[in-house]
Amino acid sequence: MMIIMKASSTPQEVERVVDKIKSLGLAVHLSQGVEATIIGAIGETHSIPTDQFEVMDGVEVVQRITQPYKLASRQFHPENSIFSIDGFTVGGDEIAVIAGPCSVESRSQILETAHAVKEAGASALRGGVFKPRTSPYAFQGLGEEGLELLAEAREATGLPIVVEIMSQVQLDLMVKYVDVLQVGARNMQNFNLLRAVGETRTPVLLKRGLSATIEELLMSAEYVLAGGNKQVVLCERGIRTFETATRNTTDINAIPVLKGLTHLPVILDPSHSTGHYDYVAAVARAAVAAGADGIIVEVHPDPAHAVSDGRQSLKPEKFAAMVKQIGQIAQIMDRRLASAHGSYSPQGWA
Ligand code: PEP
Ligand code: MN
Repeated sequence: MMIIMKASSTPQEVERVVDKIKSLGLAVHLSQGVEATIIGAIGETHSIPTDQFEVMDGVEVVQRITQPYKLASRQFHPENSIFSIDGFTVGGDEIAVIAGPCSVESRSQILETAHAVKEAGASALRGGVFKPRTSPYAFQGLGEEGLELLAEAREATGLPIVVEIMSQVQLDLMVKYVDVLQVGARNMQNFNLLRAVGETRTPVLLKRGLSATIEELLMSAEYVLAGGNKQVVLCERGIRTFETATRNTTDINAIPVLKGLTHLPVILDPSHSTGHYDYVAAVARAAVAAGADGIIVEVHPDPAHAVSDGRQSLKPEKFAAMVKQIGQIAQIMDRRLASAHGSYSPQGWA
């Protein structure tokens, strides 16, 4: 339930509404926007008549949130959520470009990639150290050694690091190192993990599950938000369909649909959504044109010898060319690329 306060309401009136919500055993979420103060009463509100609040001083109107997700809904929080991630923002005018290898493999591989993606204009570095592999015999990631290498790459380039967490037992270790916790497609409905990352104040990049609906993705985001972690970025990474020509099918529709339903930033992963390096740039361009707040892309200095996802990884030169194109599309959209490097103009990086 949302209690929308009058523009003229006093702090005391807001406090009285907050106290009333608490006395009913509900959680309070206060959203003080430019336009209005909205107080969310979260919990089992069905049996509570709205007039309990309508009669209170300072209350403009009381609305029930019709969607099953509340904190994630745009109805509850009409303005876009914009988060700062160590040097850039996501969800506002800037387009985030997160790039790096599928897996951290070695010191030279991650340092070379980090320098190359920074040079090309990336705003953050990705790299997996705990890998969700289909086969238990495939490379599982370097673990803590990989985190040390990523921290060194961050030190060398200034790029914040985005790393996938697979289980809550990794949480203490991960929060010591990473700037953004990635929850992968296979864990989108690992509710214990979602609750655990919701307890932290580290931003979360939540990827859509392989066969998850948009509503299910938003319900998973709700788990993180309900824990008090407000910094959730959603990621469309392709879904399973009958089509076999590509690894997954990019649901480009998800971008405008999500942007309408939620205030959370939405990015797209053209690497996993296509599964082939030849299609990555086209789909990345489409993402920005469709209104995505960023992209996350796999880049490897030697894709032919990558230990995972080489087929969908871009060589640094191809990545750099793609970033230029995205910068131009961003301008058409009245946006600009986020970068620790400076700002993008059609002539290149300033
Ligand atoms: C990844 O980012 O390397 C990854 C495993 O992605 P997803 O969870 O989308 O499959
Ligand atoms: Mn991958």
